[in-house]
Amino acid sequence: MEYEGRICRAPGERASYNLPVTVGCSYNHCKFCGLFKDLTYREIPLEKIEEELRRVKDLGGDPKVVYLGDGNAFHLKAEQLVTILNMVHSYFPGCQEIRMDSTVPDILAKTDEELKTLAELGVKRLYIGVETALPDVLKFMNKCHTLPMAYEAIERIHKAGIDYAAHVMSGVAGEGRGIENAEALAAFVNETKPVLVVNFDMFPSHMEEDMAAGRFVPAELKESLAECRRFIELAAVEGVEYDSSFGFPPDRVWGTLPKDREKMIAAIERMKKTL
Ligand code: SF4
Repeated sequence: MEYEGRICRAPGERASYNLPVTVGCSYNHCKFCGLFKDLTYREIPLEKIEEELRRVKDLGGDPKVVYLGDGNAFHLKAEQLVTILNMVHSYFPGCQEIRMDSTVPDILAKTDEELKTLAELGVKRLYIGVETALPDVLKFMNKCHTLPMAYEAIERIHKAGIDYAAHVMSGVAGEGRGIENAEALAAFVNETKPVLVVNFDMFPSHMEEDMAAGRFVPAELKESLAECRRFIELAAVEGVEYDSSFGFPPDRVWGTLPKDREKMIAAIERMKKTL
C-alpha cells in the first residue's frame, strides 16, 4: 500500500506494524497541528486494507503489535473496526495487541458495549491527544474536547479494559504558563492513570496569525524544560512511562516513573546548561 502524507506515531510504536486504515485526521482543526492539513480525511477501502495484510503475510509477517493509522483511526465506526480487527487476526494469528490514535469525541461516540467488544478483539491501547489540562488552553487551541469530556472518555475505556497513552505538549499554554500547565497536567495524569505520556514540545509553525496578533507568545525552550521537570516531579502514577522530545534534531528525556525520576531530571538540567 502506498502511504499518503506522513507517518505520525509515538516513538514507542516504532517496532509495531503500521497498518493505515484511514488517511489524515477527521477533525483537523487543532490550531497547533499541521500534520494533516494538506490531506482530506478518508477511509481506506477494506479491499485495500486486506491487500496490504496479504502482502505482509506473504512476506512472512506475523506482528505481535499492530498500530492502525492515521491521525485518529478510532474515528471509524465500531462495526468497521470490528471487521478490520477480525481481518488482522485472521492474517496475523500471533497478533496480541492493536493500538491506534483517538480523539476524545471518537471514544464518546461509542457505546460501552462497543468499547468492550473492541477491547475483546485486541484493542488494548488508545493514544489520546490530551495536550493540556488547562480548560482555556484547550479552547484557545480549538481542541475537540473539554476537560470533563476527557475524564469521561478515559473512565469509559478503562471500564472496557483499554489502556490509554497521553499525548501532551510542553509550551502549549504559551510563555509564562509552563509551570501552571505542568501542575494541571500532573493532576490530570495522576487521576486518569495513562500507561505512557508522550510529550512533544510545542512547535507553533501553524500559528503565525495568533503570534503576529500577540494572542500566543511561544515559550522559550528553557521554560519548556522547566515545565517538563515540574511535571516529572509531580507525576505519581506507578510505572508510567514518560517520553519527551525537545528541539530539532530532538533531545529525548525518557524513563519510567518513579524509578527514573532523578535520571530524567538530571538529563533536563544537562540540556538547560547547553542553552
Ligand atoms: S486531533 Fe490530533 S491529528 Fe487531528 S488536528 Fe488535532 S492534534 Fe492534529
